[in-house]
Amino acid sequence: MVKEVNCKGAGYEDCEFLVRSENVDELVRFVQQHAEQTHDQSVSGTDVRSLMHDA
Ligand SMILES: [Zn+2]
Repeated sequence: MVKEVNCKGAGYEDCEFLVRSENVDELVRFVQQHAEQTHDQSVSGTDVRSLMHDA
Protein backbone atom coordinates (compact mmCIF):
# COMPACT_ATOMS: atom_id res chain seq x y z
CA MET A 1 0.00 0.00 0.00
CA VAL A 2 1.32 3.43 -0.92
CA LYS A 3 1.70 5.88 1.94
CA GLU A 4 1.92 9.62 1.70
CA VAL A 5 3.22 12.41 3.89
CA ASN A 6 2.82 16.08 3.18
CA CYS A 7 4.07 19.12 5.02
CA LYS A 8 0.69 20.84 4.99
CA GLY A 9 -0.63 17.95 7.07
CA ALA A 10 2.12 18.69 9.57
CA GLY A 11 1.08 22.33 9.86
CA TYR A 12 3.50 23.86 7.31
CA GLU A 13 0.80 25.54 5.26
CA ASP A 14 3.14 27.17 2.75
CA CYS A 15 5.32 24.13 2.08
CA GLU A 16 4.43 22.09 -0.99
CA PHE A 17 6.56 19.11 0.01
CA LEU A 18 4.79 15.81 -0.54
CA VAL A 19 6.29 12.36 -0.68
CA ARG A 20 4.79 8.99 -1.52
CA SER A 21 6.26 5.55 -1.16
CA GLU A 22 5.37 1.95 -0.51
CA ASN A 23 8.46 1.74 1.65
CA VAL A 24 7.75 3.18 5.08
CA ASP A 25 11.41 3.32 6.11
CA GLU A 26 12.29 5.21 2.95
CA LEU A 27 9.42 7.60 3.52
CA VAL A 28 10.60 8.28 7.06
CA ARG A 29 14.13 9.01 5.80
CA PHE A 30 12.88 11.39 3.10
CA VAL A 31 10.70 13.30 5.52
CA GLN A 32 13.41 13.52 8.18
CA GLN A 33 15.87 14.82 5.60
CA HIS A 34 13.38 17.40 4.33
CA ALA A 35 12.44 18.51 7.84
CA GLU A 36 16.08 19.03 8.79
CA GLN A 37 17.13 20.76 5.57
CA THR A 38 14.08 22.91 4.99
CA HIS A 39 12.54 23.50 8.39
CA ASP A 40 15.58 23.02 10.62
CA GLN A 41 13.48 20.58 12.60
CA SER A 42 14.33 17.07 13.67
CA VAL A 43 11.45 14.63 13.73
CA SER A 44 11.36 11.10 15.08
CA GLY A 45 10.29 8.09 13.06
CA THR A 46 7.22 7.92 15.29
CA ASP A 47 6.33 11.50 14.41
CA VAL A 48 6.64 10.77 10.71
CA ARG A 49 4.54 7.63 11.02
CA SER A 50 1.80 9.59 12.77
CA LEU A 51 1.65 11.94 9.75
CA MET A 52 1.39 9.15 7.20
CA HIS A 53 -1.82 8.34 5.45
CA ASP A 54 -2.85 6.14 2.56
CA ALA A 55 -2.17 7.77 -0.79
ZN1 LIG B 1 8.22 21.12 4.31
